[in-house]
Amino acid sequence: MKIGAALGFNLTDYPGKIAAVAFAPGCNYACPHCHAKPILGAAAPINARDFLDYLSTVGEWVNAVVLCGGEPTLQPGLIPFIKEIRAKKLSVKLDTNGSNPAVLSQLLAGGLVDYVAMDIKGPRHLWPNLSGNPGAESAMLESMKIVPRFPVYEFRTTIAPVVRGADDISFLTVPEMAAAAKMLAEVTGSANHKYYIQKFVPRKDGLLDARLESFPETPVLLLQDIHTEVLKYIPNTQMRG
Ligand code: SF4
Repeated sequence: MKIGAALGFNLTDYPGKIAAVAFAPGCNYACPHCHAKPILGAAAPINARDFLDYLSTVGEWVNAVVLCGGEPTLQPGLIPFIKEIRAKKLSVKLDTNGSNPAVLSQLLAGGLVDYVAMDIKGPRHLWPNLSGNPGAESAMLESMKIVPRFPVYEFRTTIAPVVRGADDISFLTVPEMAAAAKMLAEVTGSANHKYYIQKFVPRKDGLLDARLESFPETPVLLLQDIHTEVLKYIPNTQMRG
Protein backbone atom coordinates (compact mmCIF):
# COMPACT_ATOMS: atom_id res chain seq x y z
CA MET A 1 0.00 0.00 0.00
CA LYS A 2 1.46 3.32 -1.06
CA ILE A 3 0.72 6.41 1.04
CA GLY A 4 1.45 9.80 -0.45
CA ALA A 5 0.52 11.86 2.62
CA ALA A 6 -1.10 11.30 6.00
CA LEU A 7 -2.80 13.12 8.85
CA GLY A 8 -2.49 11.77 12.35
CA PHE A 9 -5.69 13.30 13.67
CA ASN A 10 -8.76 14.65 11.88
CA LEU A 11 -12.25 15.54 13.14
CA THR A 12 -14.06 16.27 9.87
CA ASP A 13 -13.39 13.54 7.31
CA TYR A 14 -15.22 10.76 9.18
CA PRO A 15 -18.38 12.19 10.79
CA GLY A 16 -18.58 11.29 14.46
CA LYS A 17 -15.09 9.78 14.59
CA ILE A 18 -11.59 10.90 15.31
CA ALA A 19 -9.68 9.66 12.31
CA ALA A 20 -6.19 9.28 11.00
CA VAL A 21 -6.13 9.88 7.25
CA ALA A 22 -4.04 8.14 4.59
CA PHE A 23 -3.91 9.66 1.11
CA ALA A 24 -3.14 7.13 -1.62
CA PRO A 25 -1.14 8.57 -4.52
CA GLY A 26 -2.24 8.00 -8.10
CA CYS A 27 -5.64 8.24 -9.73
CA ASN A 28 -7.09 6.98 -12.99
CA TYR A 29 -9.18 10.14 -13.38
CA ALA A 30 -8.02 13.60 -14.32
CA CYS A 31 -10.75 15.86 -12.97
CA PRO A 32 -9.88 19.41 -14.05
CA HIS A 33 -10.72 20.77 -10.57
CA CYS A 34 -8.55 18.22 -8.72
CA HIS A 35 -5.99 19.61 -6.31
CA ALA A 36 -5.05 16.30 -4.65
CA LYS A 37 -3.37 14.67 -7.63
CA PRO A 38 -0.78 17.40 -8.20
CA ILE A 39 0.06 17.57 -4.48
CA LEU A 40 0.29 13.80 -4.01
CA GLY A 41 2.33 13.42 -7.18
CA ALA A 42 5.00 15.65 -5.70
CA ALA A 43 4.88 14.39 -2.09
CA ALA A 44 7.53 12.18 -0.52
CA PRO A 45 5.89 8.78 0.20
CA ILE A 46 5.12 7.66 3.74
CA ASN A 47 5.97 4.13 4.77
CA ALA A 48 2.75 2.12 5.29
CA ARG A 49 4.34 0.21 8.17
CA ASP A 50 5.15 3.50 9.90
CA PHE A 51 1.49 4.54 9.53
CA LEU A 52 0.30 1.23 11.00
CA ASP A 53 2.82 1.53 13.83
CA TYR A 54 1.47 5.02 14.54
CA LEU A 55 -2.04 3.56 14.81
CA SER A 56 -0.77 1.16 17.46
CA THR A 57 0.24 4.10 19.62
CA VAL A 58 -2.90 6.23 19.46
CA GLY A 59 -5.01 4.43 22.04
CA GLU A 60 -8.49 5.91 22.38
CA TRP A 61 -7.47 9.21 20.79
CA VAL A 62 -8.06 7.87 17.29
CA ASN A 63 -10.90 5.45 16.54
CA ALA A 64 -10.99 5.41 12.76
CA VAL A 65 -8.97 5.64 9.57
CA VAL A 66 -10.00 7.42 6.38
CA LEU A 67 -8.50 6.16 3.14
CA CYS A 68 -8.66 8.72 0.38
CA GLY A 69 -6.46 9.99 -2.38
CA GLY A 70 -5.91 9.86 -5.22
CA GLU A 71 -7.86 6.67 -5.62
CA PRO A 72 -7.20 4.07 -2.89
CA THR A 73 -8.87 1.18 -4.77
CA LEU A 74 -6.04 1.22 -7.32
CA GLN A 75 -3.55 0.14 -4.67
CA PRO A 76 -2.76 -3.60 -4.88
CA GLY A 77 -2.04 -3.71 -1.15
CA LEU A 78 -5.29 -2.06 -0.09
CA ILE A 79 -7.11 -5.11 1.30
CA PRO A 80 -4.27 -6.47 3.47
CA PHE A 81 -3.65 -2.92 4.67
CA ILE A 82 -7.30 -2.53 5.72
CA LYS A 83 -7.21 -5.91 7.45
CA GLU A 84 -4.29 -4.71 9.57
CA ILE A 85 -6.20 -1.54 10.44
CA ARG A 86 -9.30 -3.50 11.41
CA ALA A 87 -7.21 -5.82 13.56
CA LYS A 88 -6.55 -2.72 15.67
CA LYS A 89 -10.33 -2.34 16.17
CA LEU A 90 -10.51 0.87 14.17
CA SER A 91 -13.39 1.87 11.87
CA VAL A 92 -12.55 2.39 8.20
CA LYS A 93 -13.95 4.94 5.75
CA LEU A 94 -13.09 4.79 2.07
CA ASP A 95 -13.39 7.73 -0.32
CA THR A 96 -13.61 6.57 -3.93
CA ASN A 97 -14.23 7.86 -7.42
CA GLY A 98 -16.22 4.70 -8.17
CA SER A 99 -13.95 3.45 -10.94
CA ASN A 100 -13.24 0.08 -9.33
CA PRO A 101 -16.46 -1.86 -8.60
CA ALA A 102 -14.53 -5.15 -8.36
CA VAL A 103 -12.56 -3.90 -5.36
CA LEU A 104 -15.69 -2.37 -3.81
CA SER A 105 -17.36 -5.78 -4.10
CA GLN A 106 -14.42 -7.47 -2.38
CA LEU A 107 -14.48 -4.91 0.43
CA LEU A 108 -18.22 -5.38 0.83
CA ALA A 109 -18.03 -9.17 0.85
CA GLY A 110 -15.24 -9.09 3.43
CA GLY A 111 -17.02 -6.61 5.69
CA LEU A 112 -13.84 -4.55 5.58
CA VAL A 113 -15.18 -1.00 5.29
CA ASP A 114 -17.72 0.73 7.52
CA TYR A 115 -18.32 3.86 5.48
CA VAL A 116 -17.95 4.57 1.76
CA ALA A 117 -18.13 8.00 0.15
CA MET A 118 -18.42 7.99 -3.63
CA ASP A 119 -18.12 10.93 -5.98
CA ILE A 120 -20.87 11.49 -8.49
CA LYS A 121 -19.06 13.79 -10.86
CA GLY A 122 -22.22 15.35 -12.29
CA PRO A 123 -24.78 14.39 -14.94
CA ARG A 124 -23.84 11.37 -16.98
CA HIS A 125 -23.32 13.19 -20.29
CA LEU A 126 -20.64 15.35 -18.64
CA TRP A 127 -18.70 12.55 -16.91
CA PRO A 128 -15.95 12.52 -19.56
CA ASN A 129 -15.46 16.28 -19.13
CA LEU A 130 -15.61 16.12 -15.34
CA SER A 131 -13.52 12.99 -14.78
CA GLY A 132 -11.08 13.24 -17.68
CA ASN A 133 -11.72 9.52 -18.19
CA PRO A 134 -14.18 8.82 -21.02
CA GLY A 135 -14.05 5.06 -20.40
CA ALA A 136 -15.19 5.06 -16.79
CA GLU A 137 -18.95 5.19 -17.27
CA SER A 138 -19.89 1.53 -16.87
CA ALA A 139 -17.65 1.14 -13.81
CA MET A 140 -19.18 4.18 -12.13
CA LEU A 141 -22.70 2.95 -12.80
CA GLU A 142 -21.85 -0.44 -11.30
CA SER A 143 -20.24 1.17 -8.25
CA MET A 144 -23.31 3.34 -7.67
CA LYS A 145 -25.31 0.16 -7.19
CA ILE A 146 -22.76 -1.41 -4.81
CA VAL A 147 -22.12 1.58 -2.54
CA PRO A 148 -25.59 1.64 -0.86
CA ARG A 149 -24.96 -1.88 0.42
CA PHE A 150 -22.21 -0.72 2.81
CA PRO A 151 -23.22 -0.11 6.44
CA VAL A 152 -22.86 3.67 6.01
CA TYR A 153 -22.38 5.54 2.77
CA GLU A 154 -22.76 8.83 1.03
CA PHE A 155 -22.73 10.15 -2.51
CA ARG A 156 -21.34 13.60 -3.16
CA THR A 157 -20.82 16.07 -5.96
CA THR A 158 -18.54 19.07 -6.09
CA ILE A 159 -20.27 21.91 -7.93
CA ALA A 160 -17.22 22.64 -10.03
CA PRO A 161 -16.56 24.52 -13.25
CA VAL A 162 -16.95 22.21 -16.27
CA VAL A 163 -14.56 22.40 -19.21
CA ARG A 164 -17.12 22.25 -22.00
CA GLY A 165 -14.81 23.33 -24.82
CA ALA A 166 -11.48 25.00 -25.40
CA ASP A 167 -12.73 28.42 -24.27
CA ASP A 168 -15.95 27.37 -22.65
CA ILE A 169 -15.73 26.74 -18.91
CA SER A 170 -18.64 27.32 -16.56
CA PHE A 171 -20.11 25.92 -13.36
CA LEU A 172 -22.43 22.96 -13.31
CA THR A 173 -25.95 24.31 -13.73
CA VAL A 174 -29.22 23.68 -11.90
CA PRO A 175 -30.70 21.56 -14.76
CA GLU A 176 -27.48 19.56 -15.02
CA MET A 177 -27.53 18.76 -11.32
CA ALA A 178 -31.23 17.90 -11.49
CA ALA A 179 -30.26 15.40 -14.20
CA ALA A 180 -27.46 14.02 -12.00
CA ALA A 181 -29.80 13.53 -9.03
CA LYS A 182 -32.49 11.95 -11.21
CA MET A 183 -29.88 9.59 -12.66
CA LEU A 184 -28.66 8.65 -9.17
CA ALA A 185 -32.19 7.69 -8.15
CA GLU A 186 -32.83 5.77 -11.38
CA VAL A 187 -29.55 3.84 -11.45
CA THR A 188 -29.76 2.80 -7.80
CA GLY A 189 -33.51 2.26 -7.82
CA SER A 190 -33.88 4.45 -4.74
CA ALA A 191 -34.08 8.10 -3.77
CA ASN A 192 -33.18 7.28 -0.19
CA HIS A 193 -29.51 8.28 -0.16
CA LYS A 194 -27.40 10.67 1.82
CA TYR A 195 -26.20 13.05 -0.88
CA TYR A 196 -23.92 16.05 -0.40
CA ILE A 197 -23.46 18.87 -2.83
CA GLN A 198 -20.31 20.68 -1.94
CA LYS A 199 -18.69 23.85 -3.13
CA PHE A 200 -15.65 24.07 -5.34
CA VAL A 201 -12.84 25.93 -3.62
CA PRO A 202 -10.16 27.26 -5.98
CA ARG A 203 -6.56 26.75 -4.98
CA LYS A 204 -3.77 28.86 -6.33
CA ASP A 205 -1.20 26.18 -5.54
CA GLY A 206 -2.19 23.89 -8.35
CA LEU A 207 -5.30 22.39 -9.94
CA LEU A 208 -5.02 19.81 -12.69
CA ASP A 209 -6.43 22.36 -15.14
CA ALA A 210 -4.78 25.66 -14.25
CA ARG A 211 -7.55 27.61 -16.00
CA LEU A 212 -9.85 26.76 -13.08
CA GLU A 213 -7.55 28.46 -10.59
CA SER A 214 -8.97 31.85 -11.58
CA PHE A 215 -12.55 30.77 -10.86
CA PRO A 216 -14.27 31.87 -7.65
CA GLU A 217 -15.75 29.49 -5.10
CA THR A 218 -19.08 28.06 -6.16
CA PRO A 219 -21.51 31.00 -5.70
CA VAL A 220 -23.74 30.46 -2.66
CA LEU A 221 -26.88 31.28 -4.64
CA LEU A 222 -26.03 28.65 -7.25
CA LEU A 223 -25.42 26.09 -4.51
CA GLN A 224 -28.76 26.96 -2.88
CA ASP A 225 -30.65 26.79 -6.20
CA ILE A 226 -29.07 23.41 -6.99
CA HIS A 227 -29.94 22.17 -3.51
CA THR A 228 -33.58 23.19 -3.93
CA GLU A 229 -33.82 21.36 -7.26
CA VAL A 230 -31.89 18.24 -6.24
CA LEU A 231 -34.10 17.79 -3.16
CA LYS A 232 -36.95 16.92 -5.55
CA TYR A 233 -35.10 13.74 -6.54
CA ILE A 234 -32.97 12.93 -3.48
CA PRO A 235 -34.75 14.26 -0.37
CA ASN A 236 -31.79 13.70 1.97
CA THR A 237 -29.49 16.09 0.12
CA GLN A 238 -27.39 18.49 2.12
CA MET A 239 -25.06 21.34 1.23
CA ARG A 240 -21.50 21.07 2.44
CA GLY A 241 -19.14 24.01 2.58
S1 SF4 B 1 -11.09 11.35 -8.80
FE1 SF4 B 1 -10.62 13.34 -9.66
S2 SF4 B 1 -10.64 14.72 -7.88
FE2 SF4 B 1 -10.43 12.63 -7.09
S3 SF4 B 1 -8.21 12.31 -6.91
FE3 SF4 B 1 -8.84 11.52 -8.92
S4 SF4 B 1 -8.46 13.22 -10.32
FE4 SF4 B 1 -8.51 14.07 -8.25
